[in-house]
Amino acid sequence: MTKSRWYKGNIHTHTTESDGDAEPEKVVGWYRRHGYDFLVLSDHNHLTLFEYGEGRRRFRRPLMIPGEEVSANIKNGDVPIHLNGVGISRVVEPIDAGEVVPTIQANVNAIRQAGGIPSINHPNYKWAFDHTHLQQVEGLGLLEVFNGHPAANVYGAPGKFTTEEIWDGVLSAGRVVFGVATDDSHNYHDFTPQKSNPGRGWVCVRAETFTRNAIVNGLAMGDFYASTGVTLLEVETAAERVSVEIDPEPGRIYATRFTGKGGKLLSESVGLAAAYEPSGSEGYVRATVVSSSNTKAWTQPVFLPG
Ligand SMILES: [Zn+2]
Ligand SMILES: [Zn+2]
Repeated sequence: MTKSRWYKGNIHTHTTESDGDAEPEKVVGWYRRHGYDFLVLSDHNHLTLFEYGEGRRRFRRPLMIPGEEVSANIKNGDVPIHLNGVGISRVVEPIDAGEVVPTIQANVNAIRQAGGIPSINHPNYKWAFDHTHLQQVEGLGLLEVFNGHPAANVYGAPGKFTTEEIWDGVLSAGRVVFGVATDDSHNYHDFTPQKSNPGRGWVCVRAETFTRNAIVNGLAMGDFYASTGVTLLEVETAAERVSVEIDPEPGRIYATRFTGKGGKLLSESVGLAAAYEPSGSEGYVRATVVSSSNTKAWTQPVFLPG
């Protein structure tokens, strides 16, 4: 039997090919030095292809997966509708369809037609849209439950939803969309909370082989978890049982919350392993692990027939 393992990657990354402040080679170098297995360079409306050189400079990590941040700024630029195309085979031109829902739908379709997985970026950037819009979109793939850019407003605001609430809102409408954590990194020189630095959010994909196809397929199928610092050893997402096993950091305490339709808390426990056996009436079940240093991991939902 082939053994699968976890591969860590960032799927939202800028370089000097758009508004990032380091060249692709430097950006790739940062992620290599920090132990990433794969990387998607996602410049605005530009397909940045990075090839490793020959000979001694020929690295294998991070594995490069083609991508682009398809960026439509509608309503005279006030409403950013940004979607990553992960694993696209060609550049995708952004479409401005005037209103929020038709614009998201048109760009989802364009990314799918280019062979990519559409990922909905930072819904709370300029409070552009929320689950009431995303519920109307067909063919969703991924959604940023965490984005490391300080303007992404992932924790919401008074009267505004958190990105996690937006994710639950989409799932509660019966739409399958998988939650990702990303850096949306732009700044590679000056590391401060006000900058969008690398290393804040990533995904760990489970795959049997370390190939582009296996990683992209794992993302498409939801065989991954999102993280801002919590490492998981095992994740089980079956209709009979949802469980996690945590790889602890010294001195940290971990709580696991299982949530269902409407973001309802189903169970919560403290420890290095947690499991929940669905009754079948939860709609969906997903797990969030929170550490005592407030880093998190999110597993993907399992939908129940009801
Ligand atoms: Zn963006
Ligand atoms: Zn971006």
